[in-house]
Amino acid sequence: MCFILHSAAVRQGIVDTVKRALGDPKVKSVVICGQNGIFCGGADIKEFGTNMSGPPLVPMIHAIEAANKPVVAAIEGSALGGGLELALGCHYRIAHSKARLGLPEVSLGLLPAAGGTQRLPRLIGVPAALDLITTGRHVAAAEALQLGVVDRVAEHSTVDAAVKFALSVAAKPLDARRISTYPCPCPSDFDALFEGAMQKVRQNARGAIAPVACVQAVRAAATRPYLQGMEREKELMATLFTSGQARALQYCFFAQRAVSKWSMPNGARWDTSKPRPVHKAAVIGLGTMGRGIAVALAQTGLSVVAVETQEKQLMEAKQAVSGMLERGAKRRGLTPAALHKISYSHDIQAVADVDLVIEAVFEDMALKKKVFQQLSAVCKPGTFLCTNTSALDVDHLASQTRNPELVVGMHFFAPAHVMKLLEVVYGPQSSPQAVATAMQLGKKMGKVGVAVGNCRGFVGNRMLKPYIEQAFFLLEEGATPELVDRALEEFGFPMGVFRMSDLSGLDVGWRVRKGDGLVESGLASGQPTRLREGRRYSPLGDLLCEQGRFGQKTGRGWYQYDQPGSRVARSDPWFHSFLEEYRARHGLVARRIDHQEVLERCLYALINEGFRILEDGIAAGPEDIDIIYVFGYGWPRHRGGPMFYAGMVGLARVLERLEHYHQAHPDVPYLQPCSLLRRLVASGSPPVHRWREVIKKLHSQL
Ligand code: ADP
Repeated sequence: MCFILHSAAVRQGIVDTVKRALGDPKVKSVVICGQNGIFCGGADIKEFGTNMSGPPLVPMIHAIEAANKPVVAAIEGSALGGGLELALGCHYRIAHSKARLGLPEVSLGLLPAAGGTQRLPRLIGVPAALDLITTGRHVAAAEALQLGVVDRVAEHSTVDAAVKFALSVAAKPLDARRISTYPCPCPSDFDALFEGAMQKVRQNARGAIAPVACVQAVRAAATRPYLQGMEREKELMATLFTSGQARALQYCFFAQRAVSKWSMPNGARWDTSKPRPVHKAAVIGLGTMGRGIAVALAQTGLSVVAVETQEKQLMEAKQAVSGMLERGAKRRGLTPAALHKISYSHDIQAVADVDLVIEAVFEDMALKKKVFQQLSAVCKPGTFLCTNTSALDVDHLASQTRNPELVVGMHFFAPAHVMKLLEVVYGPQSSPQAVATAMQLGKKMGKVGVAVGNCRGFVGNRMLKPYIEQAFFLLEEGATPELVDRALEEFGFPMGVFRMSDLSGLDVGWRVRKGDGLVESGLASGQPTRLREGRRYSPLGDLLCEQGRFGQKTGRGWYQYDQPGSRVARSDPWFHSFLEEYRARHGLVARRIDHQEVLERCLYALINEGFRILEDGIAAGPEDIDIIYVFGYGWPRHRGGPMFYAGMVGLARVLERLEHYHQAHPDVPYLQPCSLLRRLVASGSPPVHRWREVIKKLHSQL
């Protein structure tokens, strides 16, 4: 008998059919399998948040486990979440060699609450169960067999194998096959084990509560009888189920899917724009970004042409790229076939026959313009020309080419072969096909692509500017880098703004500010000013750069490091006295600044810019912004992204605080609440999925 499991109807079906099978003397054993080659992806996520209808999973799994005829799970495709929990209730598990198993509930802010936290440790031991349940990672069949999650792996028809097997065990006693009756294998260093696990989980969780609850539930499996453990599992799940974090994580799950359904203000959309296939791609410039992009391209199986003008750089890049591909292949247990897919050249002529080019030369407009002119002349007709610029004007580059409709931005994040985010930047002339092709290529490269309009800094970096600016102002007003970073790290960022700035290099922003004519030679004139065209400006970053303090790479920045390149940031007494002198020089009196002010000023300024981006039509919806921040900027996923977070805080509250801070700092335009935020509050602060309606109305009135 075969079943699928993903909805109330299916659960009812299983309950009824198992009951019939057990009551039918002709049936000797039962096989549970999925339909269409997939055992089960778990509870239907759409059911979350609504009242689950139909028979609940726990008693259903109990009934299966208690059956007096052997029940065998035949796992093909995947057994995730509730699906694996069901399989754990069966007496035997047979998986296809390509099947994947896991309990991913933690990534949705939940725990496996149909006995998963109680059965898995009884079956495979506490350490392995903790690993699977607290990370939510999926394992392949081979690993599942090694861990003891499944009894056998089938190479061919899993169902046939399971049926054969079920018949062979039809008369065997089942007492030793009911996992809930197993004692949980208890290691001798029990306390140390859980203490260590809890510490590790808390550190990685950055404030997320679900992984912590998972450890508590597994602990209950190890310390309490099964039924009491189940009670604890239920209790912990109840807390998680109604938490804001679960809402945020489930929002992220849907938002990630929503952003692939991109749209442009001119009406072009994902479902009406056909991508063109890309078989051969090129990367121009093999610095840090170009190397990572070349690796990511080659790993998709594409032929790649890599062009770099400097001989020495080319040699180094070749080695570095090969190393990255070899390590990547080793991790995945593959041979680095991608190595042979890359050819290297000094000469831009080598890109003549590629389908798509990604330019990653220095961030210099004059140079990029020249490269785009060359590309336009060299490439075959129809080649898409993409730039990896993080801030320069994509339209301007497009205007250098014969076919501006073929030009889009593909903004990767460092290291490009690791980081998931890709901003696909379209200009007014970009064709829907160019956007569709870049989005599809990004997906093939394993990236989360978000289509955004062209503006200074696009979405991510544009919102970062007011955030960093507030952090600088807070230093002037009395905070320290340590205080600001601690507040942001406690919020859940992996790194605060100053540690991050030290890591990415202070000189990057300095060069941009110089280009914008903002930097004065402060020390030369003796007194750098703190205003630019009526707007408050902090020259603190410029002053550090003038001292050669570029961050980690020079061993000094906002913090000090044991040596250049070292990663451990230490408080720097030099900086503290420099800051005090700076304040004294400018007549600034330090006041006490608390974490709440740090968060409100940095985050609400960033969020306010997010609303402006929505107002300007640069991002199609709040989900796009949130996914950019979660995947590219370390925004804690359990807080759902900045726009979702604003909704959780309450839009009226965000507006009120921005008004308050803008009143206190009238020379900071970023703190002035934008009209979309006002409009949303005036419309009764609708939930985030209804913002698009308000935005549409706003646009139609413009
Ligand atoms: P990033 O850190 O953004 O990757 P880098 O400055 O490290 O940037 O790298 C840019 C690379 O582009 C350098 O290796 C440089 O030699 C190379 N480059 C500059 N101009 C050209 C060009 N016209 N064609 C190919 N490569 C170029």
